[in-house]
Amino acid sequence: MRRTIARPLRFMPRAVQRFNCGPRASSTLHHLKDASVAHHRPQTHHHRDRDHERRRPESDVVPHLARQPLHPLSLADLVKHGRPPLGAEALLASARFTLSLLPIRLAHRIQALRNLPYIVVSNPNISKIYNNYQASLSTLLPWQGRTISNLEDEIRFTEVLAELVQTHTDTIPILARGFLECRKYISPAEVTRFLDEHLRARIGTRLVAEQHIALHFSSTPHFDPAASPTPCPEHPSYIGVIDTALRPASTVDSCGGFVADICELNYGVRPQWIVDGEPDTTFAFVPMHLEYIITELLKNAFRATVENGMSREPVVITIAPEPPEVKPPQQQGQVHLKPPKESRGAFDRDAIAPLDDNAPGVTIRIRDRGGGIGSDVLPHIWSYSFTTFSESDDVPGGSWGSDDALSVISAANNGSSSIAGLGYGLPLSRAYAEYFGGGIAVQSLHGWGTDVYLRLKGVGKIE
Ligand code: ADP
Ligand code: MG
Repeated sequence: MRRTIARPLRFMPRAVQRFNCGPRASSTLHHLKDASVAHHRPQTHHHRDRDHERRRPESDVVPHLARQPLHPLSLADLVKHGRPPLGAEALLASARFTLSLLPIRLAHRIQALRNLPYIVVSNPNISKIYNNYQASLSTLLPWQGRTISNLEDEIRFTEVLAELVQTHTDTIPILARGFLECRKYISPAEVTRFLDEHLRARIGTRLVAEQHIALHFSSTPHFDPAASPTPCPEHPSYIGVIDTALRPASTVDSCGGFVADICELNYGVRPQWIVDGEPDTTFAFVPMHLEYIITELLKNAFRATVENGMSREPVVITIAPEPPEVKPPQQQGQVHLKPPKESRGAFDRDAIAPLDDNAPGVTIRIRDRGGGIGSDVLPHIWSYSFTTFSESDDVPGGSWGSDDALSVISAANNGSSSIAGLGYGLPLSRAYAEYFGGGIAVQSLHGWGTDVYLRLKGVGKIE
């Protein structure tokens, strides 16, 4: 019997999916509606723990799985199964590799959520995320201890992955709302520490799942165009979700158009931008990560430019390729692009991927004339939830989470995009950039403007 798998959001045309949170996860969450706070296992409630374990024996595995080390994910891991279309053996190997990583990764997240203060995990939004993780882990557990050895298994496993990716689509706005509602009980620093670890780990988990799903769809004869309402154009340069010939200048132009549209809606002004440097540079990277980062950085640059009354000054984006490094032998293996220690929280070890020092990369400088970032604001820009954006426009300086931010989340849930307001743009962009060994640095020239340096490392030689 031929099975079909609903193509997840990521495989819709990028122009459609960008900043649209996609189909609400609720359709896939109906079975979780009754999930209650009782599913939490805060360490102080031992009697409840025992009841809970009797009801849900699979939760026993969480501490065990969470003690296992995380596999540090690299771009090379994701392309190691070869170029699609994959043969049956390579596709099965990819499925098995994916299965070997995911339960441990989910268990680490569940454990981290359990370690939050009880009153925070009891918040309906945070507990929804917790329950999503529990549910996703329980869909994978039956697969552990058996081998995915035929294509029928692989199809069923890919269905489970597609469901998992879909279930966790809205994690960020839900967590953002949850932590805003809990801001009396947890400090901004604690929120940032938790989110930094959680969202970095989430990047890898989604990527592992999405990579296998994409390989599945692009590997004939299993590829079934009828399975999806949106045809997936064949990209010869793609290996799963990685574009081996990604051209950042094209990403800048398409994201620039999108952000300029939002500006036009919000301010009635359409800022201009120029791409210079070496716009024809290409490298191997994950397009959806680059799109996220560029969109957030352009939102900041455009907003500052408009609010500073400089809309006639274009934002200038300079693309500079970074050639593979030639290093003296004693330096081999040293990490060059690794960001400074203090920029990283105590997040999962998986976010420090082994770097391929010989991989080509690219540096993108985004230069605006938006007046720069004040010294009162600058120390806080990397904190989740810090923003100087206010819908009522009467908040001097900046703030951590406000009711305005809640309305920004509500607006986002209705499909409209905001230029700013959640305070997640910079920290999350940095998490994406650092995931594979890049980084983001911000340089403000007071009264003049801001330079943001985005460095990304691609993947080296691909078989
Ligand atoms: P948000 O845009 O939602 O406020 P971000 O994390 O993107 O959150 O940015 C945090 C803050 O940093 C912004 O509110 C703004 O005050 C400041 N900022 C970021 N980029 C720029 C820029 N290019 N020019 C001026 N200020 C900026
Ligand atoms: Mg922003």
